[in-house]
Amino acid sequence: MAKLVCSDYGFECDFVAEGDQIEDVIKIFGDHTSEEHGIEYQKEVLQQFILRKFGA
Ligand SMILES: [Zn+2]
Repeated sequence: MAKLVCSDYGFECDFVAEGDQIEDVIKIFGDHTSEEHGIEYQKEVLQQFILRKFGA
């Protein structure tokens, strides 16, 4: 189970992306930040966010 919380990354936003697959979480979160905040994170960056947090 992986999870990315928008507010952890400096946004005033309560969006949470979570799922069993890291790939899914990356996609959900990436779509959200690009649509809602106009910021497109690279997939590798989001992967690092998750790895740092979960050490998986
Ligand atoms: Zn957000």
